[in-house]
Amino acid sequence: MSFVSSLKKFFSPRRRIIGTTDLRRALKNNEFVFYYQPEWDLKTGEVKGVEALIRWESPNGIIPPAEFIPALEQTGLINEFTPFLFDQTLHDLRELYQAGFDHLFMSVNLSVVQLHDPLLLDIIRKSLDNYAIMPEKLECEITETKSMDKPELEFQTLQQLRDNHIKLSIDDFGSGHSSFNYLKDLNAHKLKIDKEFIQSLFDKPANETIMRTIIGLGHSLNLIVLAEGIETSAQEQWLRKNGCDYGQGFWFSRPLPLTMLISFLRAQEDQTNTSYQSEK
Ligand code: C2E
Ligand code: CA
Ligand code: CA
Repeated sequence: MSFVSSLKKFFSPRRRIIGTTDLRRALKNNEFVFYYQPEWDLKTGEVKGVEALIRWESPNGIIPPAEFIPALEQTGLINEFTPFLFDQTLHDLRELYQAGFDHLFMSVNLSVVQLHDPLLLDIIRKSLDNYAIMPEKLECEITETKSMDKPELEFQTLQQLRDNHIKLSIDDFGSGHSSFNYLKDLNAHKLKIDKEFIQSLFDKPANETIMRTIIGLGHSLNLIVLAEGIETSAQEQWLRKNGCDYGQGFWFSRPLPLTMLISFLRAQEDQTNTSYQSEK
């Protein structure tokens, strides 16, 4: 990466400069928090799991991940962040179980730099043990990117995760950088279709054809197919009618802090019970 492009990454879109000291301080002061966005089964209307999305609650307000994850990656600090990622999200999954939602899975985003960490599997195993979580309940979302400079090591790490019964999701499928390598070789469990496809679904008929083809491709590889970024009822209905398995997006719920997520799930449950009773 050139000097200029690496410098650019350290400026947030609002021209905030994010340095190592800020990031270290944020980690130390517990300023990083996870919000959770439900993943829905489109056929049954049930929440199956949640995706953990990080936020930086800085003294100057909430900073979204796109503004600081690149800085964490480029400074290598992301590897100091990994133990916190698994400790916090699996702690929160245990809280969800204790609140009665013990069928849910937890999905976390991993960047390629984290796959280079020889300690990754040990870190994950330790957190799974600490909170008595079955590895099958954990999913790691990976995006295929141009910056994959050690593909063999990355595949080896992902294979280790699979061997330990941790699930893998192919994130942002169809976005600028993705190719078919992950689809061919990863032995993944789920394909997450990039939200751009959902948002442009009705722009022209060819987009619907492409979407049907991606859903079919995922199914022919025995993957669960999830559509990200569903914002309207029309998108949800089309996806359900065309066999897409799971959905996620503002139409169902925004990413929520843990306590709000629990209230949301309870309200959902009440609604389901009420509609069940009124049908009887
Ligand atoms: P992603 O993994 O593709 O996550 C989905 C993004 O879409 C999230 O943005 C989410 O808030 C947003 N989203 C969800 N539903 C909708 C919708 O209906 N419409 C629209 N327009 N957007 C929707 P967010 O939280 O800002 O995260 C951005 C990216 O940052 C994530 O994209 C992921 O790549 C990365 N990220 C987030 N948390 C982590 C983390 O803990 N570690 C790493 N390495 N990356 C993370
Ligand atoms: Ca993701
Ligand atoms: Ca995504």
